[in-house]
Amino acid sequence: MQRCSCGKRAVYFQKHSGQKLCKGCFIDSLEKKVRRTISKHKMFQRNNRIAYALSGGKDSVALLHILQKIERQFQNTEMIAVTIDEGVANYREDAIAIAKENTKQLGIEHEINSFRDIYGASLDQIIETADMQSGKRLVACTYCGVLRRKALNIVARNLNADVIVTAHNLDDIAQTILINLIRGDVWRLGRDLSSSKVIDSRMIPRVKPAREIPEKELTLYAYYRGLNYHGGSCPYSVEALRGDIRNFLTLMEAKRPSSLLSLLRASEKISKTLQLQSSQPINLGSCEYCNEPTQRQLCKACELLGNLNLLGENEPL
Ligand code: SF4
Ligand SMILES: [Zn+2]
Ligand SMILES: [Zn+2]
Repeated sequence: MQRCSCGKRAVYFQKHSGQKLCKGCFIDSLEKKVRRTISKHKMFQRNNRIAYALSGGKDSVALLHILQKIERQFQNTEMIAVTIDEGVANYREDAIAIAKENTKQLGIEHEINSFRDIYGASLDQIIETADMQSGKRLVACTYCGVLRRKALNIVARNLNADVIVTAHNLDDIAQTILINLIRGDVWRLGRDLSSSKVIDSRMIPRVKPAREIPEKELTLYAYYRGLNYHGGSCPYSVEALRGDIRNFLTLMEAKRPSSLLSLLRASEKISKTLQLQSSQPINLGSCEYCNEPTQRQLCKACELLGNLNLLGENEPL
């Protein structure tokens, strides 16, 4: 029988490190890795107010429990869970119920806001309008991503948060790196991975403490700790390019463990070089419609909703 270095029965072989780990050591190793990532990238300070983006899925539930353990040791840090309800029928309701259960169990304040509250329309309504206008199914994730990003920033700012924490894992980040490269969007690499040079107090900085943890390990963490998470998948989750890249990276990781981590490291270096090259901070103006920070006349969210004639549905925020 394979043994962990502590003598107990090993339950997990970590291919990229070559370590065999028992359940307890596996849990410890993940929690330590998150703690190390937070200090390495100085993600937050001891007295920060943290807005934690909680969807109720496995990654966000697992990281919530890890952060809650870490937060207990920093008495001046405060964490508030924020759930954005996009309004996807037969999907989001269950995830929200599970998110609520978790925050209740951990005694964490929980704020839930919906697209309908913020934009006057649910994602289902937005997609229905978009489909009717174009006559073909559009990629819902494009709308969802832009609108959720803006919503999260607004909610976190209203909560006086110093930082927004999201549960993106190593797989998510490696996929995004490749998507940006394939689209030729090198500048986005810098923006996605570093604390950008945007100087605008209306934009709350975002950090990803699980960026070095493979998706498989976060799932195992949730399983070994017996956490309750939402396992369903969004009916709109059919972004073809990301699906192809996910399959490709799974194959690469199986053939050559550490591929994902190598991609992350390479893109951190690119990101640093890009930052050195452009030392000018980015100044943001205000969207003509909603007044939110943007470099354009209309922010991306207002542009998308405006194209669907949905801007008049709600008052500017
Ligand atoms: S799969 Fe796409 S549409 Fe569904 S919640 Fe995720 S980003 Fe939004
Ligand atoms: Zn052990
Ligand atoms: Zn706007």
